[in-house]
Amino acid sequence: MAAVMAKWTHAAGYGGYGAVMGSKNLKAVVAKGTGPLPEVEDVEKVKRLIDEVCEKCYDSDLFRMWGTGAAGYEVGARTSSEPVRNWQEEWHDQRGFGVDSFEHRLWIKRFWGDFGCPTTCLKMAMTKAGPLKGAIGDNPDYELQAYLGTNLGIFTPEGNVYLSSLIDDLGLCGIQAGNVLGFAGELYQRGILTKQDLDGIELKWGDAQAFAKLAKNIAVRRGIGDILAEGTHRAALKIQEMKGKDVTEYAIQEKGVALGAHGVRSGEDYLTEIGYACSVQAGDHTSIAHFARRSKGELDIMLHDSGVYCWFNMFAQRRDLKWEFFKAVTGWDVRPRRWHKTTARRILHLQRALLLLGGPDLRWNPTEHDDNPSRFYEPLPSGPYAGKSVNRAKFRRLKKRYYEAVGWDENGIPKPEELERLGLQEVDRILKAKMGK
Ligand code: SF4
Repeated sequence: MAAVMAKWTHAAGYGGYGAVMGSKNLKAVVAKGTGPLPEVEDVEKVKRLIDEVCEKCYDSDLFRMWGTGAAGYEVGARTSSEPVRNWQEEWHDQRGFGVDSFEHRLWIKRFWGDFGCPTTCLKMAMTKAGPLKGAIGDNPDYELQAYLGTNLGIFTPEGNVYLSSLIDDLGLCGIQAGNVLGFAGELYQRGILTKQDLDGIELKWGDAQAFAKLAKNIAVRRGIGDILAEGTHRAALKIQEMKGKDVTEYAIQEKGVALGAHGVRSGEDYLTEIGYACSVQAGDHTSIAHFARRSKGELDIMLHDSGVYCWFNMFAQRRDLKWEFFKAVTGWDVRPRRWHKTTARRILHLQRALLLLGGPDLRWNPTEHDDNPSRFYEPLPSGPYAGKSVNRAKFRRLKKRYYEAVGWDENGIPKPEELERLGLQEVDRILKAKMGK
């Protein structure tokens, strides 16, 4: 869960890149440019397109005015898909946790953004009174409002900003850290982890300072923090060994990656039942497995990710703008059909192969691990969608359809003929050798 931090509060969190850098003793990467910008194919066209993007972004209020934090109250109250106390619930009606409370009580700057961004979705927030006074940082976006708020039973903007700014200072991923903190919170609630196990911390839901103490122990790998620092999946395996009790049912993760803060049980949010289970980025909510006639789901997202631009700037743009931009920059006339059938498929299969190959101590078996956390098959206990859960038979049907649509066999492994079509025979050879395919 060690993140690669960029500027003060932004982080590349998912995927453990910070841990990879740490293992190689790489502290930081700094770039300083002195010459001209890189050449593009059609500089006048690029300038025109940038102007068009900026104007649309300036006209579009949602992200500019409130950022994704605007979803903080809505996702819990309206769509019942926000993690609450380690996903034991996904509904709450805490109006005091709405974006207006953050805005009026804590914001000290609006229109704050990453370099050159026309949307500027960030807002600077500071706790101004009370025992948590003095915390300052990027106002938590939706994911961190959820993971460092509702998922820990914290429903005050002050507690949320306090914890979020600490997590940034510690260089942790807010999603992975918030997920493992919630996991520890539930084990404490159930008496599986005691105050003694937690080095004297009484880990009660809603206590931001208690969760902050545990987060610090994770960052320096002190006491139980050394185990929790491994992330929810590995921590669950170790605690299971330590306690002689299966605790994996409380680990809300997918192939070692903590899930994004959007539940699928109510069926009212933007994810499908197979979104996390079949994603080539495991629990990552920005690249969900989804394949429909009109929407190509993750294949479209791959263009944003490969182009290295923030997709928040693309919400208000016309559909064909990104393809024009691509051509004006690279000179390559990539059309949607070719992208979806060839280039994006190559990326998809490569990511899938890397995911399945796992690491030195972890291997994923799609027939077993392309699945939701067991909690998602339990009915929602509260809210307007109480009683709803993921239906196993429907899940299996959707998974089968998805495998077929993207060219994977019935076990979820890219088919040899599909890999050959895309010039990826080497990937097929490695998969056969390593997975006994
Ligand atoms: S680049 Fe994206 S995340 Fe950064 S300020 Fe702009 S809209 Fe927000």
